[in-house]
Amino acid sequence: MLNLLGLSPAKISDFLQGHGARPFHSQQILQWMHQRQVRDFDAMTDLSKALRTKLKEIACIQLPKIARMQFSDDGTRKWLLELEDGNQIETVLIPDGGRNTLCVSSQVGCVLDCQFCATGKQGFNRDLTTAEIIGQLWLVQHALQQERSCRENKDVVRVQPVAKIITNVVFMGMGEPLLNFEQVMSAIDLMFHDHAYGLSKRRVTVSTAGVAPAMEQMIGRTQASLALSLHAPDDALRSRIVPINKKYPIQVILEKVRSYLASLPDKRAVTIEYTMIKDVNDQEHQARNLIKLLRSLPCKINLIPFNPFPQSTYQCSDTARIRQFAHLLKQAGYVVTVRSTRGDDIAAACGQLVGVVEDRTRRQVTWRKAALQSSGS
Ligand code: SAH
Repeated sequence: MLNLLGLSPAKISDFLQGHGARPFHSQQILQWMHQRQVRDFDAMTDLSKALRTKLKEIACIQLPKIARMQFSDDGTRKWLLELEDGNQIETVLIPDGGRNTLCVSSQVGCVLDCQFCATGKQGFNRDLTTAEIIGQLWLVQHALQQERSCRENKDVVRVQPVAKIITNVVFMGMGEPLLNFEQVMSAIDLMFHDHAYGLSKRRVTVSTAGVAPAMEQMIGRTQASLALSLHAPDDALRSRIVPINKKYPIQVILEKVRSYLASLPDKRAVTIEYTMIKDVNDQEHQARNLIKLLRSLPCKINLIPFNPFPQSTYQCSDTARIRQFAHLLKQAGYVVTVRSTRGDDIAAACGQLVGVVEDRTRRQVTWRKAALQSSGS
């Protein structure tokens, strides 16, 4: 049985060739699956009876299972999803006014080992499939729709009302999206597709720690927005906290960012993500170096207060320090936002997503041992 969930219309067409299906059928199936969220082929009433019967024999629409759902006091929601092989990933919905941003995972764990990130400490198991990535949208969209119909029925709903659809997607959950290039790109195609999620190209953001060759491959392949996890203004510090920097240093990745932005048909800025870590990257001279480094790059800078996780050795910069850092950047003409920490009461904030990773790298074991030793137990 083939899972249709992650397939493009062209792939659905290829698959159904010889089964009496016409190209427009794949668009109808796409709409049933992603827009009306119907998984039962019998309910796809504008398909012929014969095609529906065939589909039941040869295909399925399979989703990750919801293992747990948590609500934060600030409206953020987190889903723990169980995959077919028992691995678990997390996906987070951040409602904000009329906007609903879904923060999706792209891998089970992560290989990058950024020093301040909980996911990195979990080690890595495998890439997600396109169906597992798009399944995160499906499940959350479904939850929002159900809630809406409850409300229309005047049933009592205990959760805060939110907009009915996902409006933005950010690849800022577990994993490095550009190390799972093909599956992530196919998922983004479906997010953009008018018969699937119909999201605007500016509202889907790939966040990367700087996988230079894949950043180059994005040119001509997608028009998603880009966020770069910079976190340090110089190579010495960045190599220490974001180890992939040893392979692809700052100037190399900034060059790739410029080329990608130039390849887009509209004027767009890259989001520079900078996690504020106390006494590590939050000093005045570092703000000044950042100002020099990013000069002439179309960008907005997003300062993320460091979110602690169990046994992390770093601390978040003081509020006054973050304010001062932001002030210096703004004075130099940059657009700066300080990300409000959302969902921290349910460990749904940046860098806190862990899921349950059957680690293949032994990093989880090494990290736990080191953490136990440093806590003196
Ligand atoms: N691999 C991608 C997605 C990672 S998560 C990337 O590196 O961009 C999204 C953002 O959260 C990244 O900028 C990441 O560096 C940041 N982040 C990770 N751990 C964090 C933590 N503990 N506190 C604050 N931000 C964190």
